[in-house]
Amino acid sequence: MITHYYRPQTLEEALKLLSQPHTLPLGGGTRLTQPGDNSFSVVDLQALGLNKLRKNGNNLEIGAAVTLQTLLDSPYAPPALKHAIELDAPLNLRNLGTVAGTLVTCDGRSTFGTMLLALDANCSLADSQSNPPGTVATIRLGDLLPFRDSLLGGKLITKIEIPLNVKVAFEIVARTPADKPILCAALAQWPSGRTRLALGGWGPAPTLAMDGNEPGGIQDAARNVCSEAGDEWASPEYRLEIAGILAKRCQETAQ
Ligand SMILES: Cc1cc2nc3c(=O)[nH]c(=O)nc-3n(C[C@H](O)[C@H](O)[C@H](O)COP(=O)(O)OP(=O)(O)OC[C@H]3O[C@@H](n4cnc5c(N)ncnc54)[C@H](O)[C@@H]3O)c2cc1C
Repeated sequence: MITHYYRPQTLEEALKLLSQPHTLPLGGGTRLTQPGDNSFSVVDLQALGLNKLRKNGNNLEIGAAVTLQTLLDSPYAPPALKHAIELDAPLNLRNLGTVAGTLVTCDGRSTFGTMLLALDANCSLADSQSNPPGTVATIRLGDLLPFRDSLLGGKLITKIEIPLNVKVAFEIVARTPADKPILCAALAQWPSGRTRLALGGWGPAPTLAMDGNEPGGIQDAARNVCSEAGDEWASPEYRLEIAGILAKRCQETAQ
């Protein structure tokens, strides 16, 4: 239950509020406004100007409070990223849910989280406890997933950065075309040949299957991370079989 609501006008003010115990950033609020047993205060981010998208050289800077729908509508988002966003949440949630809120709450079935892991997204974190307060650290998304309160305590994601000079692909197997994945694969390929493959569909966070310059081994890499990927949706043997196929399709369709 939300006990106090704050709407700071500056990042400094927001960080000061977030340094208080039981105080959380409020993005779109789609998760935080759900009924629950915990009592906490929220710091609304909407007045901080964190809702901007900006191309900076070969990167796209995505403000933490950019909604999923704004990113989906952006001319900078490649078709594979758009597909992954559409599958992560229906339209009403996409209009409210922010990129940071979605990553913080994402689990292994998040198609958006899987795609951003493949893209090797960087998160800018402003820390209310640092000296001086507000010091911003840039941390790779893969080092943060799955987000936990203890990891974020007092910190605010201000920006997420993804590369634009990459080929990307996204492939999925699900019960229906709009359902959450039983297995999905996201691939990003840099001009240097560096190739990253991430898989989603199970567990607490998407899984990185490959990051290297030997794309020839991509199917084996995909299969290797599925050996314990069993749950109520599919056996590890099924995912292992499908993972190689999706990885191959990603290689063939990357653009
Ligand atoms: C009906 C319904 C169905 C849903 N179904 C799903 C689902 O199937 N799968 C799923 O993954 N989610 C689901 N959600 C959850 C939710 O829609 C998404 O996770 C959403 O995109 C969260 O974004 P938000 O901006 O609304 O987050 P908020 O609710 O504002 O915040 C979520 C968390 O992120 C933290 N946070 C937000 N912004 C920042 C920031 N800048 N820095 C640090 N921490 C931050 C908050 O403190 C909080 O802990 C559902 C929600 C609803 C209401």
